[in-house]
Amino acid sequence: MPSFDFVSKVDAQALDNAMNVIRKEITNRFDFKDASEIYAEHASLTEGTNIDISGLNYQILKDKRAVQWPYPKLEKGSGTARLFADHEFYTPDKKANILSFSDKNQSEALTPENPLILTTGRIRDQWHTRSKTGKVNKLNQHISEAFLEINPYDAAPRNIKDLDIVEISSLRGDVRVKAKLSPDIKPGVVFMPMHWGKILKSDLNRVNNLTNNLVDPISKEPDFKYSAVEVKLYKKERQKIIVIGAGAGACGFVKSYRALNTEDEIEIFSKENFPFYNRVLLPDYIIGTLPWQSLIKMSDVEELDYRIKLHRGLSIEKINKEDKTVTDSNGETHHYDVLLLATGSRAFVLKDVPALNGVFTMRSRNDADNFKKHADTTNGKVVIVGGGLLGIEMATSLAEKGSKVIIIQRISRLMGRQLDGLGSQLLHEELITKGLPSVQDILVPCSTIGTGVHQGQVISVQEVATYREGHQH
Ligand SMILES: Cc1cc2nc3c(=O)[nH]c(=O)nc-3n(C[C@H](O)[C@H](O)[C@H](O)COP(=O)(O)OP(=O)(O)OC[C@H]3O[C@@H](n4cnc5c(N)ncnc54)[C@H](O)[C@@H]3O)c2cc1C
Repeated sequence: MPSFDFVSKVDAQALDNAMNVIRKEITNRFDFKDASEIYAEHASLTEGTNIDISGLNYQILKDKRAVQWPYPKLEKGSGTARLFADHEFYTPDKKANILSFSDKNQSEALTPENPLILTTGRIRDQWHTRSKTGKVNKLNQHISEAFLEINPYDAAPRNIKDLDIVEISSLRGDVRVKAKLSPDIKPGVVFMPMHWGKILKSDLNRVNNLTNNLVDPISKEPDFKYSAVEVKLYKKERQKIIVIGAGAGACGFVKSYRALNTEDEIEIFSKENFPFYNRVLLPDYIIGTLPWQSLIKMSDVEELDYRIKLHRGLSIEKINKEDKTVTDSNGETHHYDVLLLATGSRAFVLKDVPALNGVFTMRSRNDADNFKKHADTTNGKVVIVGGGLLGIEMATSLAEKGSKVIIIQRISRLMGRQLDGLGSQLLHEELITKGLPSVQDILVPCSTIGTGVHQGQVISVQEVATYREGHQH
């Protein structure tokens, strides 16, 4: 008896050999020069069948633009205009066979639990599983998602209104889509399109969760037009949502979520000890053109109206995904059903910046207050590290008020991520001609700040603000 090791080595060798043969075969057999050769092979395989297109090739399609199949080998014209003109059909006796059926419904029987007939089908805009048509924006704008068409007569006793989310169930499964009330569909029948399948790991749009596997005994046509279902208004279970961070993302979430759902509990934890505010306006707050009140995006009263609990000045330090809990900076744990991370980004600080007085980052109200305390915003001398959108915004605000501002930019032009060379050049000129002579220079390249820069120039300043945004890890 060979040892186990020996057998597995033999097996491994056999497998290796087989793989080599397959690789070779694939190379030999898939040696088509172009798509027309693949089509030619496909066409040759149809020879002698009911769908014979063995006479077709790319050149004929290009020359004639359109032909009708069958298109057998010796065909010279435009194909077969009309099938069965010779009255010979694809039946054993070549005659048309008329089959009679009992008119008893062979489909699934309706029951008190599933009293509605679900019929499935197409909508004008989409083709099959939308692999191509689903990418056409105009079509998606017309009908963007699956829906259930239901007659108002059936909707009323179920308390269903137009666009309500409904759950449709059968003995096989369920789906969840919006209801479309329409008198065009017969009472007792509901319709769902077949095009939407699994989207973002959810198969709640997939109508074939509901359909059964009955087929016509002769034609083998699946019975997708008649399944017994029930439709109910969908009621989501109440959930607790925890949001970490109270920036623009969290604020937008609260407003749009509450438009759809007023039941769920929403708790927000913010490192910053302030209400929701608009950090985009911090430059105006710094130079005093806007008071703090103008930056607030949600007042205390509005917080109550939105039925949220905002924990100000309390950060989340730990997330436990298994228990679905978070731990705050006071050591308390909080359970969640849904957790939303809206922690934003933070200023990118160069590694070798010494802890000097007068060096600031700029992302929050605290940053702004610290800067204001230190700097003379009307007659200061400020170096801004970072010539992106935020740096330029801050620079122009300070310069407008009379400060002397220098922007230090690592690459050779302003807003390098957003603008091309010409755009950057125009922006630079605009800043100077706009009467902002204090935006003095753009120094490149520079990776250190303090008393010296790479080019050897020494800049004496009152404040340094760093403005490059980076992402939280
Ligand atoms: C001065 C300035 C000017 C700007 N100008 C513009 C502009 O003109 N146009 C534009 O489109 N964008 C601008 N931006 C960028 C814009 O502000 C951001 O893109 C936007 O704020 C991002 O929103 P967010 O909700 O993702 O994060 P943020 O608004 O950054 O909010 C995240 C919040 O989460 C908090 N947080 C982080 N970790 C925790 C934790 N563990 N626990 C609790 N809380 C936490 C943070 O403290 C912060 O309050 C500007 C930004 C600044 C700073």
